[in-house]
Amino acid sequence: MTQYKAPRGTHDIYGQMALALEELDKISRAVFRKRNFKEIKTPMFEDVALFTRSIGEATDIVEKEMYVFEDRKGRKLALRPEGTASLVRAYIEHRLDIEEPMGKFFYCGDMFRYERPQAGRYREFLQMGAEYLGNSNPNADVEIILLAKEILSTLNINDVVIHINSLGCQNCRPMFRQKLVNYFSSIQDLCEDCKRRLEKNPLRLLDCKIDSQKFQNIPTMQVCLCEDCKNHFKRVQSLLKTVDCDYFVDDKLVRGLDYYTRTVFEVRSKVIGSQDAICAGGRYDNLVKELGGQQIPSVGFALGSERVLMAAQNAGFFNKLPKNDIIFIALADSELFDEAFKFANNLILNKNNIKQKLNLQDNIVVEGPFLNKSLKLQFKLADKIEASKTILFGKTEFDNGKIIIKDMKTHQQQEVSI
Ligand SMILES: [Zn+2]
Ligand SMILES: [Zn+2]
Repeated sequence: MTQYKAPRGTHDIYGQMALALEELDKISRAVFRKRNFKEIKTPMFEDVALFTRSIGEATDIVEKEMYVFEDRKGRKLALRPEGTASLVRAYIEHRLDIEEPMGKFFYCGDMFRYERPQAGRYREFLQMGAEYLGNSNPNADVEIILLAKEILSTLNINDVVIHINSLGCQNCRPMFRQKLVNYFSSIQDLCEDCKRRLEKNPLRLLDCKIDSQKFQNIPTMQVCLCEDCKNHFKRVQSLLKTVDCDYFVDDKLVRGLDYYTRTVFEVRSKVIGSQDAICAGGRYDNLVKELGGQQIPSVGFALGSERVLMAAQNAGFFNKLPKNDIIFIALADSELFDEAFKFANNLILNKNNIKQKLNLQDNIVVEGPFLNKSLKLQFKLADKIEASKTILFGKTEFDNGKIIIKDMKTHQQQEVSI
C-alpha cells in the first residue's frame, strides 16, 4: 500500500500546537477588537495580476514563490502569498471607505509560498495581520506597531527589538534609488539575482544574503528623506517614546515588498534564535491607488502564526495554555451503560444544575462511558488523558441511587446520591 504523506513544506497541526493556535487566535482577535479593528475574510486565491501589481515583479515572492495555476476556463489565478493585496482589493471593490470609515481591518488565514522549508517556515502557513487604511498620520503607524507588540507580549514574547526605518516617498526615494544604483554598480561580482535586481529594484540588494559581506558604507535613506518624510519619521519616533515603546532605528531595513513607503518595521526576537523577523509591516501610501482605488494612505503589519508560536513556546507560553478539568465516566457493570450514557449527557448539558450539585466546575470536559473495556483499562485511559475525576457506575451503588466520585490525584473516593 502507498503510504501517503503531507506534501513537502506543509504540516499537520494537532495536540498542543492546535491548542496554542486556537489560543493565539483568541488573543489576537481580542487585541484587534480593543482598538476597533474589524475582520475581513478574503478568498484564498485571486487573479494573479493583483499580486504581481501590488507586491512587485522584481520580488522573490512574485519571481519564485507563488503558486500560480489556470482554472478550467483559463483564468490565471494564484494562491495568496500574503494578505494585504486581497484586503485592499476587497476594500476598493466594496467601497469600504464609505461603509467602514475608520478603515481598520484585520485578517487571519492560510497563505502559500513556494519556499525552501525550514524551522517554522512552511509552504502553506498561517498569517494574521492588520491594515489601517485612510490615515496618513504618524499615529496610525505607531498604533500598528503597538498592535503587533501587544499580541506578542500577550504570548509571553517580551524579549523583542522593534527595528524601524523610513523608505521615503515618491519625491525622495528616487534619489536614494540612484545613490544605490551608483554604489552597487561599483561592486564587482554581484550574484546573478542582484545583477538583475540592480535595474529593476536596487533596494532589494540590501537584503541579499550572498553579497552582504561585500557591502560597506552603503548609502542610507536617512540622508535622502524629504522634509515631509523626515518629519513623519521623527513624529513616529516621538510617539513611540510617548507610550514607552523601545525601538531601534535600522537604516538597513528595507522589507521585501515594493509597495512600502515611509515607515517600515520588523519585530525581532532573541528567543527564536535568529536575525529573522517574527512580525513585520509598514506604510503603503500608494497601493490603494495603484490597485484602482483612490489615494488612500495606509499602514499595516502581518505575523506568521507558526513562527510566532515557535517563539511563544520558547518563552514558556505553552505551559500557560488553558486546561479543562476532564471528568471520566467509568462503568463497573456494562448493564448500566444506558444510565451512564444519559448521566454523561445530562452532565454536559448541566441539567438541573447537576455540576453545581456535584461540586464540579462549569468548564469541565466529559469523557465516556465506554462499552467492552475492563474497569482496569478504563482507569488507565482516565490516567492517560489526565482526567481529574472519575465518576464510577457500579451495580450495588447504583441500586441504592448512588455513584462513586474518585479524585484521580488523591485517590480519595466518595459516594454521592443522584
Ligand atoms: Zn519623501
Ligand atoms: Zn546578491
